[in-house]
Amino acid sequence: MEMKLESILLPGVNDERPLVIAGPCSAETEEQVMETARLLASKGVKIFRAGIWKPRTKPGGFEGVGVEGLAWLKRVKKETGMYVATEVATQQHVFEALKAGIDMLWIGARTTVNPFAVQEIADALKGVDIPVLIKNPVNPDLELWIGAIERIYGAGIRKIGAIHRGFSSYDKKIYRNLPLWHIPIELRRRMPDLPIICDPSHIGGKRELIAPLCQQAMDLSFDGLIVESHCNPDCAWSDASQQVTPDVLDYVINLLVIRDVTQ
Ligand code: PEP
Ligand code: MN
Repeated sequence: MEMKLESILLPGVNDERPLVIAGPCSAETEEQVMETARLLASKGVKIFRAGIWKPRTKPGGFEGVGVEGLAWLKRVKKETGMYVATEVATQQHVFEALKAGIDMLWIGARTTVNPFAVQEIADALKGVDIPVLIKNPVNPDLELWIGAIERIYGAGIRKIGAIHRGFSSYDKKIYRNLPLWHIPIELRRRMPDLPIICDPSHIGGKRELIAPLCQQAMDLSFDGLIVESHCNPDCAWSDASQQVTPDVLDYVINLLVIRDVTQ
């Protein structure tokens, strides 16, 4: 499919390289959201992420605070000036998020695998102008990833980005999800105008892998990073071992070597 995308996802955020989206895996309490957001804003982060509907692999875990969290994200926006982003997996999520004035949506890896679910989200987005980021499906299927991107484009969305969060594997020796970098590289070849954002948190699954994965993404000319950051990572209600404090995130970002590969 021939796609004509808008290059600016949100005003004022594409002018730096890399574009950084950061925030906790899950919104847990209003205090945790506000404290993390204030710390991230003080480090210059412009887009805040937090999941309020959490797709957990197994039942019994924390499945998100739901709509209550939308009010906290609105407060983040009002008090810090950051843009706010959350995951949507159903039409109802889309309607609630739009009603609350969320600035950016993302589709999770467990949703991208399901064309029916992606199409329902696309249908709920018809006539809406909002940036949508599409994570790769959990399985290494580039066509399924591209298909999801095309469904969202088909709804009229022109601010689209892809998130590379790695691919499920039985082998979890190093990575939680194998990076298989050739897949996002092939996506870039197929869709050269599509911004690609690396999610080192879900690839690595552990905080010590965040820095090297961010550097690898920069070396491959990715457009941005989405990193899980929590004011008290060890106590996080989901993905505790991969979250970093806003201080650590800032340190990692400042150490990145950005090479101009066009020279
Ligand atoms: C998340 O971003 O917290 C998340 C659930 O990610 P993924 O869909 O990549 O597993
Ligand atoms: Mn997570």
